[in-house]
Amino acid sequence: MRSPMFRRVVLKISGEALAGTKGYGIDPGVLDTLARQVKSARELGVDVAIVVGAGNIWRGRVGQEMGMDRATADYMGMLATVINALALQDVIEKYGVDTRVLSAIEMRQVAELFIRRRAIRHLEKGRVVIFAGGTGNPYFSTDTTAALRAAEIEAEVILMGKTGTDGVYDSDPRKNPDARKYREITYLEVLNQGLQVMDSTAISLCMDNGIPIVVFDMLGPDNIVRVVLGEDVGQTYIR
Ligand code: UDP
Repeated sequence: MRSPMFRRVVLKISGEALAGTKGYGIDPGVLDTLARQVKSARELGVDVAIVVGAGNIWRGRVGQEMGMDRATADYMGMLATVINALALQDVIEKYGVDTRVLSAIEMRQVAELFIRRRAIRHLEKGRVVIFAGGTGNPYFSTDTTAALRAAEIEAEVILMGKTGTDGVYDSDPRKNPDARKYREITYLEVLNQGLQVMDSTAISLCMDNGIPIVVFDMLGPDNIVRVVLGEDVGQTYIR
């Protein structure tokens, strides 16, 4: 059996990725691709925790631009992550993998409340844990949630699954044909150069806790599993 490079991972899935080419809502094809790969990662014995975003439904910034109170708009974003988490849970369980949705905001009928020790226990039992509700606090992002949860559950890495890009570039490759991709970059270089990989709070948290980040194209064939195995899919390592 091929041996994975990581024992426990946090997979960050942005809302945008779930929308696929539609740009809004949830693309069943994307869900299916993700679920199949999560199952394969589990079969390698890797503990998989997922942090899901909500950009496909709502972002706090949009509400703010409409004149809404920032905190209210952010709570709407956190609630939207729960919708995405339930969609992921449904499809992953169709593949026969046990999952638990743990929400940072209490929502008894639909999800368990996030309790760190409970999350770890689920992982130890081989369940895929899906973290919903972000950090439970406005003014944060789901990238920061990924950094926070990774530290809390002692994950070895954050797998930043991207769509539309396959790593970290020195400029936007869609605008600059000469953009250069980094294969390795430090947290500080990302911060100092203002590279749009994760927000600065999330990067800082990873830096302070020594959690490496792998940025890769999540929808490439078997890429999640290949990254877990340490294969080269053109990913960038931030560490
Ligand atoms: N959000 C928040 N606190 C958190 C996580 C998320 O307030 O801890 C809100 C914030 O408004 C954000 C929205 O939820 O815009 C959706 O999350 P995010 O933008 O990170 O989703 P992604 O870009 O990954 O799809």
